[in-house]
Amino acid sequence: KLKKSLGQNFLTNPAILSRIVAAGDVGPDDDVIEIGPGIGALTQYLAEAAHQVLALEIDERLIPVLAETLAPYPNATVVEADVLQADLATLIRDHFDGEHTLKVVANLPYYITTPILMHLIEAHLPIASYVVMMQKEVADRLVAEPNSKDYGSLSIGVQQTMDVAVAFEVKRTSFVPAPNVDSAIIKLTTREEPRAQVSDQEAFDKLVRGSFKARRKTLWNNLQNLYGKEPEIKERLTKALDAATIKPSQRAEQLSISDFARLTEALLVEGFK
Ligand code: SAM
Repeated sequence: KLKKSLGQNFLTNPAILSRIVAAGDVGPDDDVIEIGPGIGALTQYLAEAAHQVLALEIDERLIPVLAETLAPYPNATVVEADVLQADLATLIRDHFDGEHTLKVVANLPYYITTPILMHLIEAHLPIASYVVMMQKEVADRLVAEPNSKDYGSLSIGVQQTMDVAVAFEVKRTSFVPAPNVDSAIIKLTTREEPRAQVSDQEAFDKLVRGSFKARRKTLWNNLQNLYGKEPEIKERLTKALDAATIKPSQRAEQLSISDFARLTEALLVEGFK
């Protein structure tokens, strides 16, 4: 019996499974973390290709099923765990030799796609790339550029440190049972250098989230809601915007990542955290 609440939509099409492994460029020099192996369809393909595979599955009922499907693959290990609670750094240290390139490949549970991505990124793990299946709507937000309706704090949070590309799209009918949405495989590759360096990442994140809070309103409006409306504050906000050469009448979706980085630094100079 499948658990809808755990986002259990399984992939069975072998052509799609091979394309996911190919998109991840998974080979014998790679170790792979898989999130939500389900009944192990993708896991088998990964184990064929990779050095070691570590799969984290939350549903205890699937553990014996996985033991059976993965019996022929001694290089695949399943751990019963909630990826959002798991101590990934320790798991990585305990399961991998550190001499292979670490990659994440997964058909994500859609009800927690964004939390999982943010959890992985914020953990600053030594992961070279992520190839992940997600609902197309979230994929569109990840790859979105400025001046589009999908561009927002998720696009910026991910693109700051990673290059993002759509590998391919998958119709809902490729899953059992079929979910209510179409999907896309997204490839995220960790950049050598972040797209924009900031001296205070928390201040940057706060500014980005606050600027998109009312996305139809101007930056000026959102900044006042974030930092205050007193005349003295308005004066310092104006100075910061001037220094960053950003117009108060602009809207958040018009600003690039480096615009936000510049504005963060100018706000810090004016004492805003
Ligand atoms: N990889 C399989 C496939 O492609 O057929 C299954 C993918 S299915 C979309 C999502 C899987 O993630 C399910 O097996 C579900 O039980 C598991 N899952 C859901 N929430 C999880 C969590 N918090 N941590 C780990 N696994 C989770």
